[in-house]
Amino acid sequence: MKALQGEIERRGRRIFELVDKHPEPLFSKAGFYQRLMALSMRDERFKVQLFRFVDVLPSLRGSRDVVEHLNEYFSDNGFGPLINAGVRLAGVVPWLSGRILRWNVSGMAHQFIAGKNPDDVMATLRKRRAQKIGFTVDLLGEAVVSEADADEYAARYLDLLEKLALDTKDWTDPLGKNSELFPVVNLSVKISALYSQMNPADPADAITHLVPKLRPLLRRARELGAFINFDMESYAHKNTTLELFKTILTEAEFKDWPHVGIVIQAYLRDSEADLRDLIEWGRARSTRFAVRLVKGAYWDYETTKSLQNSWDCPVFFQKPQSDVNFEILTELLLENQSIVTAAFGSHNVRTIAHAQALADELGIDHSCFEFQLLYGMAGPIKRALVEMGYRVREYCPVGELLPGMAYLVRRLLENTSNEGFLRAKFAENVSAKELLRDPRELVKPDGAIPPGSPIPATARNQHRKNDASLDSAPGDVYRNSPLVNFVYKDSQDEMRSALREARSRFGEKYPLVIGGEKVWTDQLTPSVNPSAPDEIVGYGSEAGIPEAEQAVKAARAAFGKWSRTPFEERARLLERAADIMERRRYELSAVEVFEVGKPWSEADADIREAIDFCRFYAQQMRRLGRPKLTQQVPGEESYHHYWPRGVAFVIAPWNFPIAILCGMASAGVVTGNTVIMKPSEQSIVCGAMLMQVFEEAGVPPGVLNFLSGRGSVIGAHLVDHKDVDLIAFTGSREVGLKIWESAGITRPGQRELKRVICEMGGKNAIIVDADADVGEAIGYSIYSAFGYQGQKCSALSRLILLEENYDRVMERLIPAAASLRVGNPEEPGIMVGPMIDEAAYRRILDYIEVGKREATLAYQAKDLPPHGYFIPPTIFTDVKPNMRIAREEIFGPVLSVLKVRDLDEALEVANGTDYALTGGFLSRSPANIERVKAQLETGNVYINRSCTGAIVGRHPFGGFKMSGSGTKAGGEDYLLNFLVPRVVTENTTSHGLAPEQTPEYRAEFLWPKPQ
Ligand SMILES: Cc1cc2nc3c(=O)[nH]c(=O)nc-3n(C[C@H](O)[C@H](O)[C@H](O)COP(=O)(O)OP(=O)(O)OC[C@H]3O[C@@H](n4cnc5c(N)ncnc54)[C@H](O)[C@@H]3O)c2cc1C
Repeated sequence: MKALQGEIERRGRRIFELVDKHPEPLFSKAGFYQRLMALSMRDERFKVQLFRFVDVLPSLRGSRDVVEHLNEYFSDNGFGPLINAGVRLAGVVPWLSGRILRWNVSGMAHQFIAGKNPDDVMATLRKRRAQKIGFTVDLLGEAVVSEADADEYAARYLDLLEKLALDTKDWTDPLGKNSELFPVVNLSVKISALYSQMNPADPADAITHLVPKLRPLLRRARELGAFINFDMESYAHKNTTLELFKTILTEAEFKDWPHVGIVIQAYLRDSEADLRDLIEWGRARSTRFAVRLVKGAYWDYETTKSLQNSWDCPVFFQKPQSDVNFEILTELLLENQSIVTAAFGSHNVRTIAHAQALADELGIDHSCFEFQLLYGMAGPIKRALVEMGYRVREYCPVGELLPGMAYLVRRLLENTSNEGFLRAKFAENVSAKELLRDPRELVKPDGAIPPGSPIPATARNQHRKNDASLDSAPGDVYRNSPLVNFVYKDSQDEMRSALREARSRFGEKYPLVIGGEKVWTDQLTPSVNPSAPDEIVGYGSEAGIPEAEQAVKAARAAFGKWSRTPFEERARLLERAADIMERRRYELSAVEVFEVGKPWSEADADIREAIDFCRFYAQQMRRLGRPKLTQQVPGEESYHHYWPRGVAFVIAPWNFPIAILCGMASAGVVTGNTVIMKPSEQSIVCGAMLMQVFEEAGVPPGVLNFLSGRGSVIGAHLVDHKDVDLIAFTGSREVGLKIWESAGITRPGQRELKRVICEMGGKNAIIVDADADVGEAIGYSIYSAFGYQGQKCSALSRLILLEENYDRVMERLIPAAASLRVGNPEEPGIMVGPMIDEAAYRRILDYIEVGKREATLAYQAKDLPPHGYFIPPTIFTDVKPNMRIAREEIFGPVLSVLKVRDLDEALEVANGTDYALTGGFLSRSPANIERVKAQLETGNVYINRSCTGAIVGRHPFGGFKMSGSGTKAGGEDYLLNFLVPRVVTENTTSHGLAPEQTPEYRAEFLWPKPQ
């Protein structure tokens, strides 16, 4: 290793010498651009604002818009006199400033984008040819949200291929040696551009759709003697891309074709395993293929996404770890050069010098591998490599400015990154010695995160306060349970096996549980699979009035002891329940798929939420359980603390069959109440499973009672019952309001004023601003409206589009809806499953008829499974705010689109309903975002994301107006609804003798004292 290090340094220094012969700053365009980048590297806040502005600029229409955004992004932010003067000047001459800014940003983009279209790019490629630099061309485009987009992309790839082949037909290899390995024409393809419905849980579906799209491209490339590279994108698509590559290239037609390659990202922890697997596959195929080794372009995205979902992070956390891994993989590639052609995609001189030195040590000729670098970056390094006799290829993106923005921003980030090589060398003049150090020496052992740890050091530090004190943000006192990441084959296999297992238990019978006893009744209620209504998932014993009475008695009898059980013990019960659900996670998810038609990831999210409720409420109870001194005064102690209310009756819906039932019941139990929980009639099996969980966790008899039965019979009876002190309800407005009214009547013998926690429906809107990113707007809207087939109270049902934006959005919204996968959610990648039952199915079909009469049916899916309660995703346009479909909750996959003049009208329409549950706003205008945050009348306001998917502790959930009584499930004040406050005051002076200090803490007021 020492000798190799010496050689690496020698080569590295040689590259630097050559680079320094033609010095070039990091940002080659002088003036405006260079100054902005320099400022960005000094000021992180400015960088964020600048990149956001660059991102939105091409989509702004008029100069006035440009200047307004400029003002919003940069004024009053202390960015220095130059910027402030510029912003002021732009306000004075908007027309000119708008033009100048656009011109400058296009200049910036053109530094990284090699041409607007295939014709345009040829000029660049010719110039590079003269410099002995080859090319690979990539197509930039809008995010693919529909199959129409994907087809268009595929056609553009083919056109580009034809054009490149035609225009370069007399070009030869710059090195002239081993040229058969390196065709002149080289096209880089993004797999996600070819199929809009890629779902990590379902690689087989993606491959089925992608193979027919890729075949013509590969076939034509082969005919034309061209090379196709499969680029690598985010981790979610990695396994599918690898699998697709191997699948299609093992087909008889392509098995002996060597001119294909794929990318391996060294920043991924599992990249070595992937590369070994590929090499093994290549050997079995016995035809050469290529690998472009890179570090990876999505580091920030991967870390953020993993943190948000509490996933194991797939990337290394320390930059030198990625560098070391790149070198390990370089060795693996070069050692296997008999089967795999290596391309090293890096601008880092150390990384490059290592590959050179190692190749020499292994006796591999320069012409057998290549270095690849990005267009517009590291020009002097490319030149140096050519001078040293290496093969160099440039990665040249082609496309218009607007769709190229995401790419441009990625490059700007890369160039200005604190950790990046380019900034260190070209902007900060770090010494050659330092830049050529062995990255192994730079990996920090202490402070390093053990492999597989979910949180990177930086993020962990930000959250340090969480562990330290109960005074930290309430959502931070615990960690959300990780979602299952279906990108892993193990997770997919476990889910499949859980589904098989759940199927084998179809038809089982589930008892009531009252006072710790299993109770069977004569009546059994079947619970059916809405995707296949002839399948009975299970039967629940149906409770009548006698069982309801028994349950109240049991709950009341258990209350005395449970209410005096220390909160710590109650909290631990919830934590045990959470652990059991974690253990039975797949099993519970599988039951949801069958019983309520949830797609895999939605079912998993429901179980995760139930687990989170238990852990979060346990923590919150520890915070609330301790009596608190009200004031420090000598001679007196006053403590504020809480008592449970009594018997709680929990009535839950079927759409979050375990989470909501568990959330309400666990809140009741942990606060010391005793609970009767009634699952929905459509999700009895899920309810029974939750009861099993609590039984296993050791809930004492009578503390939690499971009572399935009809709402109209036992529900109504218990709501009115004199011995029920609290009702926690989540469901329809119709039933909720009845409960609210009925609970307000005081019955003879009633001890308490009943407390009602009532969470009802929504008629949720998302407003799309004129400057919104249309691709993202479509993605969020489609998911919010049609995820779990619109059967969420938070689902989007009114999409409000500004006139200015209307056509742009609609043009892509309908094809996106038309591309959704509708079907039985037992299949992993399904997004739209069945309605819960026949009644819902009929009601929604009726609404669709109403919609047809009131508005214009703009889209309705046609291909539906023949059985089951499937309703096609449906979109209405020309909807007016007073129409029924714009006012009434439909609870299905029906979306109304409303066109409005401006943001004033959009807010008026959004707020003009009876409901106030969730609402969303998609915009890139900071001022408009601030305004909507303040003015949108909903309990949960979501900016630039979907309006569904609340997470316990992070997004306390619940609405007001006719959406609910203002409670927030999963929030810090939720448990207070289950408690009555008390204050205990003691005069501690006796004959003028007062203790000197008042104690700050005392234990609970419990008597008899627990042992
Ligand atoms: C021709 C070419 C094609 C490419 N194609 C792809 C592709 O298909 N898919 C893809 O994902 N990338 C691709 N890339 C890679 C990517 O776009 C970056 O250019 C590359 O990662 C920069 O690495 P570097 O060696 O030039 O620079 P360096 O400055 O040495 O490395 C920067 C890289 O280190 C990694 N890194 C940064 N911070 C950390 C940290 N804290 N912990 C761990 N790692 C960290 C990141 O990958 C970052 O990009 C390609 C690059 C080139 C040159």
